Amino acid sequence: MTTQSLEAKAKALNDELETLDLAGRLARVAGLDGRTVFTTSLGIEDQVITAAIGTNRLDIDVVTLETGRLFNETVALIDETEETYGIVIKRFHPAKADVDAYVAQYGMNGFYESVEARHACCGVRKLKPLARALEGASYWITGLRRGQSGNRATTPFAEADLERGLIKVNPLADWDIETIRAYVAAEAIPVNSLHSRGYPSIGCEPCTRAIKPGEPERAGRWWWENDEKRECGLHVAEATSSIIPNTSGAA
Ligand code: SF4
Repeated sequence: MTTQSLEAKAKALNDELETLDLAGRLARVAGLDGRTVFTTSLGIEDQVITAAIGTNRLDIDVVTLETGRLFNETVALIDETEETYGIVIKRFHPAKADVDAYVAQYGMNGFYESVEARHACCGVRKLKPLARALEGASYWITGLRRGQSGNRATTPFAEADLERGLIKVNPLADWDIETIRAYVAAEAIPVNSLHSRGYPSIGCEPCTRAIKPGEPERAGRWWWENDEKRECGLHVAEATSSIIPNTSGAA
């Protein structure tokens, strides 16, 4: 598919999804030709999406990046979620050779030493497994929300990911955190116990801390870095073609 046609397709899908509710958005994408993959980090937003996929028995592959550095609480939640919804969450692990090479060059926790070392670790433990998880996919569903950070403030419902040659779908783009929490409570969706201990955004254990009252939701991610746009590279703007204008100011 050409760049223009991928962008046009994403634009049309974006406009369509805007008029639907969460279940409708997911069902619409699941009904399109091509494989649909949902990558979950087991965060609260992703649990909402997983619950909708499982409850509605939608034809969407649910996968997670098991980096080898996750919190025990997160790993336990993978099993609990599979059991609750009767689904399989496929785990994608980093290649041992890649991890060994990283550790040899930077050390196990070398990511604290420089942004370059941190990106290298995310590359090995997240980005390469993500590429395997998305192989052959036409649609990639994520739990990104506009309210998660300034960097995500213009998140559309659907956008062309030109680098990966697919359409990225963000069905919770317009949900705020209060709506997410109310939905989770109403539907009795299992969530990570860390959320109630000050962790609104949860990634790898050594790279996530609890936030203080009033801090932005993602302030506890790679907190030692100064770059306000810090991300792990899964959702970098350069790799995608945003199709909604920058109108205002979420693995
Ligand atoms: S979040 Fe931290 S431990 Fe996880 S892959 Fe990135 S740098 Fe490595």
